[in-house]
Amino acid sequence: MTDYKALELDYGLPLQPKRDLVAVRGEGACLYDEAGREYIDFAAGIGVASLGHCHPQLVAAIQQQAETLITCPNIMYNDIRSRLLEKLVEISPQGLTRAYLCNSGAESIEAALKFARLHSGRTNFVTAMRGFHGRTMGAVSATYTPKYREAFQPLIPGFDYVPYNKIDKLDAVVNDNTAAVMLELVQGEGGVNPIQAEYIAAVRKICSERGVLLIIDEIQTGFCRTGRFFACEHFELQPDILCVAKAMGGGVPIGATLLDTAINVDPGLHGTTFGGNPLASAAALAAIDVYQTDNLAQRAAELGDYFETRLNVSELSQVRALRRLGLMIGIELKQKVQDKLAQLLERGIIALPAGPNVIRMLPPLIVERQQIDRVVDTLREILA
Ligand SMILES: *Cc1c(COP(=O)(O)O)cnc(C)c1O
Repeated sequence: MTDYKALELDYGLPLQPKRDLVAVRGEGACLYDEAGREYIDFAAGIGVASLGHCHPQLVAAIQQQAETLITCPNIMYNDIRSRLLEKLVEISPQGLTRAYLCNSGAESIEAALKFARLHSGRTNFVTAMRGFHGRTMGAVSATYTPKYREAFQPLIPGFDYVPYNKIDKLDAVVNDNTAAVMLELVQGEGGVNPIQAEYIAAVRKICSERGVLLIIDEIQTGFCRTGRFFACEHFELQPDILCVAKAMGGGVPIGATLLDTAINVDPGLHGTTFGGNPLASAAALAAIDVYQTDNLAQRAAELGDYFETRLNVSELSQVRALRRLGLMIGIELKQKVQDKLAQLLERGIIALPAGPNVIRMLPPLIVERQQIDRVVDTLREILA
C-alpha cells in the first residue's frame, strides 16, 4: 500500500500540524481512512463541509456543470455566475447589493481592504486582538496574533488592534484616517468568542458617525453555522462590506466580498482569473439551495442547543466554560487541548483547537442526533 503520509511529509511543506490520519473518502458527517475506519468529522474541513461530505445535490450540480462549462473568464458574461450573484445579494443583509466573487477567505479580505481604501480615500484599519482574517499579506496585516505576523514584517502599515468587546479602546483609535473597522462576529481561530450585542451596536454607530466603513468577516460564521443564515442577523447588523467563503461552496473553493450600494470600484482596479468560475459558482448555488430548503440555520440553532444541554459542562471538572453560537462551539479547558484532541481522534472523532485551551467543534449542519450523542458521551468520558 502506498505510504501517503511519507509522500506528504517528503514532498509537501510541514506548515500545519497533522492528525495521524489519511482521509480518503467522506459521506455525510463522517470521514473514512484507507482501512475503512470511520471518523465523525466535527472539523468539517474547518467549517467548510457544512452540508457534510459529498452531499448528493452538491455532487450532482458539480457533475452537471463539469460537463457543461468549467471555466469562464470575467471578460464575458456567464449564466451560472450571474445567477449566483443575484442569489448572494438576495440572501445577504440589507444594503449589500453587489458581490465580488473570489476563491478563498483571504482573497475576500484582500478585496475588502482594497475596496475600503478606494471608497474612503483613507489608509488605516482597526481590527480586533485575537481576530483572524487569513494568511496573505493584507489579511495577515489585519490579524493581530504576533506569531502569524511578525516573521513577515514590514507588513501593510496602518493597522491598529483593539481588545474585542471593549468599546472605549475602539472609540479612542477610530479617526479621520480610518478607512474601516473589520471584525468577526464570533472569533473563530481566536477561541470561539461571540461578540456582545451592545458592543457591535456601538461599533456600528461610531463607524456611521465618523464616515468609517464596517467590514464584517463572516468567513467562518456565514451560511447557517451560527443558527442564522449570516451571524449579522443575530444583531440586525448592516455591515458596509461582508466577507464570506468557507462553507459557501459546500467544500468547493469559493469566496465573495459583498458591498453596500454606496461603494463603487472603477474598472481595472481589481480582478481575478478564477473568481466566479462556473464550476465553483454551480457548487455555491447548489449549496445555498440546500441551506435554504433544508432550513439548516434553524437546524444549527436546535442541534447547538441539544449539544450544549446534553454535554452539561457544569458537571465536567476539566472544563472552564462553553461558548457557542448555533453549531459553532468552543469548549475552554483548564489545561492545553492537544492531548484531548488526540484522545478524541483515538475514539474516532475529529475536532479542532482554537488557541491553546479551547476545543473547537464545527460539525456539519446535517449531523444526526445520534452522532452528537456519540461525541457528547466521549467528551463526558475524557473531560470528567
Ligand atoms: C478561515 C478564515 C479566514 C481565511 O480564509 P482562507 O480561505 O483560509 O484564506 C479569514 N477569516 C476567518 C474568520 C476565517 O475563519
